[in-house]
Amino acid sequence: DNNKIQLNLKHTYADQLSEFASFITPTKLPNPEWVITSNHVAQLLELPDSVFSNSEYLNWFSGNTNLTNTKPLAQKYTGHQFGHYNPDLGDGRGLLLAELQTSSNRWDIHLKGAGQTPYSRSGDGRAVLRSSIREFLASEALFYLGIPTSRALGVFKTSEGIQRETLEQGAVLIRICQSHIRFGHFEYAFYQNNTELSESLVDYTFTEVLQLAPAEALSIQDKALAVYTAVVKSTALLIAKWQAFGFCHGVMNTDNMSILGITFDFGPYGFLDDFDSKHVCNHSDYAGRYAFDEQPGVGLWNLKALGQAFSGLLSKDQLMECLAQYEPILVNEYSGLMRQKLGLSKSDKGDQILLGQWLGLLQKDKRDYTNSWRLLSNYDGSNDDSIIDHFIDRNAASKWLEKYKHRLLLEKDDTQVRLQKMKAVNPKFILRNYLAQQAIKSAEAGDNSELETLFEILKHPFDEQPEFENYAATPPDWGKELSISCSS
Ligand code: AMP
Ligand code: MG
Ligand code: MG
Repeated sequence: DNNKIQLNLKHTYADQLSEFASFITPTKLPNPEWVITSNHVAQLLELPDSVFSNSEYLNWFSGNTNLTNTKPLAQKYTGHQFGHYNPDLGDGRGLLLAELQTSSNRWDIHLKGAGQTPYSRSGDGRAVLRSSIREFLASEALFYLGIPTSRALGVFKTSEGIQRETLEQGAVLIRICQSHIRFGHFEYAFYQNNTELSESLVDYTFTEVLQLAPAEALSIQDKALAVYTAVVKSTALLIAKWQAFGFCHGVMNTDNMSILGITFDFGPYGFLDDFDSKHVCNHSDYAGRYAFDEQPGVGLWNLKALGQAFSGLLSKDQLMECLAQYEPILVNEYSGLMRQKLGLSKSDKGDQILLGQWLGLLQKDKRDYTNSWRLLSNYDGSNDDSIIDHFIDRNAASKWLEKYKHRLLLEKDDTQVRLQKMKAVNPKFILRNYLAQQAIKSAEAGDNSELETLFEILKHPFDEQPEFENYAATPPDWGKELSISCSS
């Protein structure tokens, strides 16, 4: 029973935002078994070393222990899906099991795939092993790349089969972040036309989520302004990082946008293989609304939708002023990251053109985004052929390299120091879809060793790891056009 596990649990959301919740009893999940776990997240949560070996914990996470001192709930939110408002959203297959207080932070412990809720609509409330592993790997991989994201304590499978296109194994992801509040929470309050609801959400987000401790008593309008300003900023910084590392989210609906500006809700995401600025990773996104190069614009669109939800508390001028911050913050962050990727320590007027031409070469010759940058991180000024041979249009590559060489003359760093710095922002290892697919296939067959190996590699994306050279390879033909849909 619960007494054997000592956890300092809180329920701030349950107590302060009950209008945004349906309290539920978690469905029992039969025969839970760990598939993959994150020691780093366990440490973050200050859980004991025994957390993954002591079955009491797994029983607790899988709802098979009578829970005391928790108020499990499904969160209510709405949102814009592919541009259209949908009032019927909410945690349809997820629940907030508890909030865990550590010595420095409070963490949401969320179970994804834990059964039906009042918001399940026609869904079964379940998640398959495949999509749970994909979310686990992606969120952890992004963390190790330095990109803000939700985390995952682990994935466990259950003995229940789940019907999708075929019968698949059921699993649950234990998602960890400091809050699960989405843009869609604010939209729900706004479209309910309920000022009190909006104000309590602003107040909670200000105090409990963003922890913007006020020096003096603030009006609700001041708090709203602080919250909205913070979200504009963190969202701009996040999307700049996605663009720099070649991450495509895939379903940037406002219900999948975190108020914390972290990468959130992983579905048919994808890291770029061959560079294609128009890449669409979600095969159900026929119009390419969430194409790679649309992401910065979609971020702004989503912030406008959120702004609408703040319009009862903020003036039009205030909203416009906040929104005007988005592009300069994003561009400044992106330019800085791209300059680092090029090995340029200070900015020079021609840098943007140099970057644009490099990306143009990658796009025209369909070169691998990650590996091309890594190759450039090995260019010491003498090995011109290593760069030129990488391209089909050798002439264009050679011309670009002359410009690059010329630009490098302005740099003061010793060449080896520059290359070292470049390798710290140009990863050798990313989570390619085909790598995830291989690990999933093995795990579905009951062998988790490939998954473990891949996870270990992704913990050190910037290291050479020569023994794992083949994990840096571009996808084989079968892995180029993997159909990743919303089915999960
Ligand atoms: P997503 O595309 O994952 O962001 O999900 C969109 C909405 O559908 C959310 O409200 C989910 O909770 C809900 N949903 C997705 N899959 C299921 C499922 N298997 N059962 C119930 N609800 C689901
Ligand atoms: Mg979602
Ligand atoms: Mg999802």
